[in-house]
Amino acid sequence: MFMKSISEISFSGKKVLIRTDFNVPINELGEISDNSRIVASLPTIKHVLSSGGSCILASHMGRPKGNNEELSLARLIPELNRLIDADVVFLADCIGPHTKEVCLNLTPGKVVLLENLRFYKEEILADFNFAKELASLADVYINDAYGTTHREHASTVTIAQFFNEKCAGMLLEKEINSLKKLMDKPKKPVTAIIGGAKVSSKISVIINILDFVDNLIIGGGMAYTFVKHNGGRIGDSIFEKDRLKDCSNILFHANKKNVKLFLPDDTVVSDQFSEKSIKKIVDINEVPDGWLGLDIGPRTIEKFERVIKNSRTVLWNGPMGVFEMSSYEKGTSSIAKSVAQATINGAFSLVGGGDSVAAIKKFNLENDVSFISTGGGAMLESLEGKALPGIKALM
Ligand code: AMP
Repeated sequence: MFMKSISEISFSGKKVLIRTDFNVPINELGEISDNSRIVASLPTIKHVLSSGGSCILASHMGRPKGNNEELSLARLIPELNRLIDADVVFLADCIGPHTKEVCLNLTPGKVVLLENLRFYKEEILADFNFAKELASLADVYINDAYGTTHREHASTVTIAQFFNEKCAGMLLEKEINSLKKLMDKPKKPVTAIIGGAKVSSKISVIINILDFVDNLIIGGGMAYTFVKHNGGRIGDSIFEKDRLKDCSNILFHANKKNVKLFLPDDTVVSDQFSEKSIKKIVDINEVPDGWLGLDIGPRTIEKFERVIKNSRTVLWNGPMGVFEMSSYEKGTSSIAKSVAQATINGAFSLVGGGDSVAAIKKFNLENDVSFISTGGGAMLESLEGKALPGIKALM
């Protein structure tokens, strides 16, 4: 299947509906606390404007039930004006006669922002008529919202059928290309570092990536279910009894596919799930009752670091411990530094999926890896080997 690149489309004199991901976090004062999603959409917006087109920006924010002032995109206007250096016009309804009139009269270089698409339940229901109304505002459709490409919604999937000219935005294209670099003929050896709280949320990912990785590192809370499976004592560490069979399955397939699997050798345990608890380092198979493992230990860090630094492609998804508490951040910060070091040594590194992104930002290493994915759920589904509906719709 074929997808046009943004560089193949002429935008001169055209009205371009850009589906962006402006689902930015808002603090108690109603201010944007992290503008990275807006910043990530700027190359596409600026490309359309400098090519003589006009932009109709469409996004969702949060999960409103009907109109909800707190989730109005109107509050993004000052930040958009600052970043785009234009007078962005806000339209208080994403469809309807007034919106249509303004959009039909848009002249090159102008930008409008539509109100939160999810104020209409039709957005999530992928409604045909709602999508048709939205599509009637523009000549060209661009999807640049990677974070929602795994959702089959009106503005991400249904809408595409109404356009002859459509393509991925520059951010979406980068996301697709980064995943290709990892999953199609990557530079070897390839190492995947998978962590986070639970095995259950990552099983399909792990099984699928066994097809192209050479090394699989498992850390974080999910490692204890593997340790228990292998006969170790895990004390009160996080454990998923109903996932022991999945661990067997993963170990079996890893062995069959010649993937080297690395589990922790030691762990930092605590007598409580809290920052100020007593902690000590024990063998991973010897966690005493009443204690829980909250981070990987120093021997494990050394072992994992050796593997990561010798890799030419690295995927990192999920923290190695409860990195939100400074007492248990060392494992995750060390692994983040190793991924950065591998990148300096020439490896391609891709970091994605919610908490590992938060971790890499916490340790100020976001500029030291090759690519940080903007899509948590979308990236996990891509790694599971699923075709994302928002990308298929552009083909
Ligand atoms: P996930 O969303 O599955 O990637 O999980 C991320 C969460 O896992 C983070 O909030 C971590 O604090 C948590 N986590 C990592 N290691 C552990 C652990 N050993 N015990 C409990 N939670 C953990």
